[in-house]
Amino acid sequence: MLDIRIEKTTEPKQKPAKGEKLGFGHVFTDHMFVMNYTEGKGWHDARIVPFQNISLSPAAMVYHYGQEMFEGMKAYKGVDGKTYLFRPDMNAKRTNETNKRLCIPQIPEEDFVQAVEAAVKMDEDWIPTDEGTSLYIRPFIIATDEFLGVAPSKTYLFIIILSPSGAYYASGLAPVGIWIEDEFVRAVKGGMGFAKTGGNYAASLIAQVKAHDGGYSQVLWLDGVERKYIEEVGAMNIFFKIKGKVVTPALNGSILPGVTRNSVIAVCKHWGYEVEERRISVDELVAAAQNGDLEEVWGTGTAAVVSPVGKLRYKDDVMTIGGGEIGELTQKLYDEITGIQWGKKDDPFGWRVEV
Ligand SMILES: *Cc1c(COP(=O)(O)O)cnc(C)c1O
Repeated sequence: MLDIRIEKTTEPKQKPAKGEKLGFGHVFTDHMFVMNYTEGKGWHDARIVPFQNISLSPAAMVYHYGQEMFEGMKAYKGVDGKTYLFRPDMNAKRTNETNKRLCIPQIPEEDFVQAVEAAVKMDEDWIPTDEGTSLYIRPFIIATDEFLGVAPSKTYLFIIILSPSGAYYASGLAPVGIWIEDEFVRAVKGGMGFAKTGGNYAASLIAQVKAHDGGYSQVLWLDGVERKYIEEVGAMNIFFKIKGKVVTPALNGSILPGVTRNSVIAVCKHWGYEVEERRISVDELVAAAQNGDLEEVWGTGTAAVVSPVGKLRYKDDVMTIGGGEIGELTQKLYDEITGIQWGKKDDPFGWRVEV
């Protein structure tokens, strides 16, 4: 149990008005959670303080070798007026998986969840209530030793910032076009593809720019060795419905184990769908698209929850899925999971956590 000191802001900011367009990641609440780590002492000085800049030595290790991690989750204002988190224990567990890979000290799961809950509680009034909106939660850890040597840092900062965000799709679910990248790769087995860390994103930017220039909104990565098997989208896991079956790449060490991915698999199985977690080659996918077996494609991630894919491009092949319209199962999954998150639907899995 953390002992969290609280310092309230004396200058509360103007909150966004009801109905105001929020977008994603531009607006921040009045406070943030901060906790230090020092070797020999462990995590200490848990506190909630006014949202402010942080001051670090320019030699701080995070700036040079990228020893950092982050998480992404959301708080929702339910239709019953209560504040909910969605499966925060999964983010706590994943934090420690990431930390292990990056030589960042472990955080007890219950401390992570307590910190998130305390931060959200403090700025509860910032949770937007318009349809489809939520409070995005960004926990992250950075290496802070003032040292240019290559080694794990002996000091860290764990910070949680909060950002009210708008509905991902302003006017209903809109299918996106996806670029299957055949030149650059994101991660390889033995690397850190399964970890939520900035380095993976730094490596992805060049392909994202390429995809945007080609008129596509996201990149779908192939495996780093053979460039043959489907891995995942920039910040989303990917699902296919092929001849009635739900198929998604198996977690193989280079794919990020999404909380939304896990939830979609559970819901599909609950509804009686056969779900296959396995290797899927891009050739299998192109063939399924060409002979009409590829019925639906969607991405899953905290930000968009479920994101329909209407078009896939691989080299010279452009595949249109479901005539560019949202698939029936895709829409049903979006309605079910957001319904659980906003407290509109029963929660048979016990995923909703009241703050
Ligand atoms: C965060 C993330 C996802 C989605 O994970 P969720 O837990 O569902 O939000 C997928 N891929 C990458 C690379 C990610 O960073």
